[in-house]
Amino acid sequence: MKIADMNWFQVESYLKADDRVVLPLGSTEQHAYLSLCTDFILSNKLAVETGEGCGVPVYPGLPYGIAPYFSAYPGTVTIRPETYGDFVTDILNSLVKSGFRRVLIINGHGGNSPVEEIIRSRMATVPECQILFHNWWSSEDVMGAVHAVSPNASHASWMENFPWTRLERVSLPPREKAPCDPPNLRQLPPTEVRSLLGDGNYGGAYQADDDAMLSIWRTAVAETTKLLDTGWEN
Ligand SMILES: [Zn+2]
Repeated sequence: MKIADMNWFQVESYLKADDRVVLPLGSTEQHAYLSLCTDFILSNKLAVETGEGCGVPVYPGLPYGIAPYFSAYPGTVTIRPETYGDFVTDILNSLVKSGFRRVLIINGHGGNSPVEEIIRSRMATVPECQILFHNWWSSEDVMGAVHAVSPNASHASWMENFPWTRLERVSLPPREKAPCDPPNLRQLPPTEVRSLLGDGNYGGAYQADDDAMLSIWRTAVAETTKLLDTGWEN
């Protein structure tokens, strides 16, 4: 259930029986021909579907993330890691103050990974708050489902092209793009990143069958549901 569909009385009543909560993290950044909000759309939708299935409240996803290396692409927004870490820490402290104790963070963007370390160190002084930080797209189950379709799959390729991230009236290149993901990519100046990546796809075809995409999605929902139900320490 979305927090947007609850009032405070309902949260208070929920907290008498359960203390789990879900917080999605996204990003607004270039995704080649797909929506700039792809990482936000995916983590938010996954959170809502998982939370609704488990009867656990889901907070609105954060639409922004850490993506300085994409800043030469118009439309990209990037937040400084410390600022982002502070912001998420304030959210977590608010959740603890409300009475939540187990927080599943569903992260939809690889560049947000520094946030995990920041919040873990800040929240170390609040041991009653248990945090699961789930990079949903890179899990074993989801990656297994993706690689069963094609191993050439990465940022802004077919693997992020769901009916809810593609844009109307945008035609996609019919060819498959060769992998283009040097290990030092995030350290390069943004203009170099753009000239290296071109359209922004890191490699792979631009679209797969929707049957395959829906199957990958169901894998992600099932895995995240299991984590929300059984991933806690006690
Ligand atoms: Zn993405």
